[in-house]
Amino acid sequence: MNQASHTRIRGIKRIDLAYVELASSEDARDINRDIVLEIIRSKQPVARADLARASGLQPSTISSIVEQLIEEKWVSEGEVVRRPRGRRPTLLSFNDQLVILVADVRPNQAIVALVDLNGKFLARETVPLGSQPERAVKKIIQSMRSIRDLHEGRSFEGIGISMPGRVDPETQRLLLAPNLKWSDYDVKAAVEEEMRLPVELANAANASLLSELWSGRLDGIRDAVLVTVSEGVGAAILANGQIVTGRSGMAGEFGHSPIDPRGPSCGCGQRGCWEVFASSSAALRTYAELSTGDTRLDMRQLLQLVEQGDANAIAAVERQAAYLGQGLRLITASLAPEVILITGDITTSWARFGPIVRKEMERTMLAGTPPRLETTSDGELARLRGAAAVVLQRHSGYYRSAKGSSKAR
Ligand SMILES: [Zn+2]
Repeated sequence: MNQASHTRIRGIKRIDLAYVELASSEDARDINRDIVLEIIRSKQPVARADLARASGLQPSTISSIVEQLIEEKWVSEGEVVRRPRGRRPTLLSFNDQLVILVADVRPNQAIVALVDLNGKFLARETVPLGSQPERAVKKIIQSMRSIRDLHEGRSFEGIGISMPGRVDPETQRLLLAPNLKWSDYDVKAAVEEEMRLPVELANAANASLLSELWSGRLDGIRDAVLVTVSEGVGAAILANGQIVTGRSGMAGEFGHSPIDPRGPSCGCGQRGCWEVFASSSAALRTYAELSTGDTRLDMRQLLQLVEQGDANAIAAVERQAAYLGQGLRLITASLAPEVILITGDITTSWARFGPIVRKEMERTMLAGTPPRLETTSDGELARLRGAAAVVLQRHSGYYRSAKGSSKAR
């Protein structure tokens, strides 16, 4: 397989050629396996002969890789194609009996779900959480257990958890989560101990970006930034075709860049960070300042007030939108992406607030063409799908290049 065809593989398996050159024959086998898995994912149902054509690998290599993938339950054989003459090939697909338990953890609640290999949701439930980490994790485990009991016949590959903070990819410990007071609690160990399945933690923004890559939506795009707007503001970076996580997974914290050193204090300990002006919490704070009476709302309720024409609610979210757009300069000036994807509650009223964000972003561009500004289709599902994608990647070898210690089991 030549180098050019490596880079054409769509989605998340962007293979770093620097590592390919150093690879042993064992690594090369693993890379071929990842390529075959990726082609099956994007072209399924697909025959072995078509896999050989699409990958450039020998039919005998394809056969042995496919046998391995079937044995490991990643792939299953389905219908037999009827052709006028010659052999009748059996089509291969992702095995949808293989499932992943996922959770999207937020400061007040978690969504726990079951996803199959094709990204289809088989169960989903919301679990309210308190601030005490042990108790919160116990509730998540309870929910996962009951979902697992209802789907006993399936083959559980692992657990993926999207966290509203930065997770060290090496240690899987939460390094920074100012809106979730769970520091020093080993979530991975607690869940693994109870569920007896390998657990992968991921930053919510990175999980969402992975989900966009997995869906093929960013095919052909090498520079993109995904911005999550919820209790805080987080970002995930695709630069030169690679997801950038930086040292200890800490890259992308634009939300904690100060835009007004005398601004309100932030959960990170500094003042006037972008997120204290551009997050959902900022809109809720503005609304409380403008209004009298009971102002204890969540962002969904605030956006409902917007739809009902409440002037204070509209003013509060317009202000958030303007700050969101201005702060995007941190991203346009440092990374010059082709696309900025916004995900989060504000996108449910994007027709109203998107133009404000776009106008401010374009007004503050240094030079050149502004990036395309788009939203993800469903932020909640994206985090959950992304959490599943993290499990699939880890187990299929995506992190192999980053230290060799990748296989979770
Ligand atoms: Zn901050």
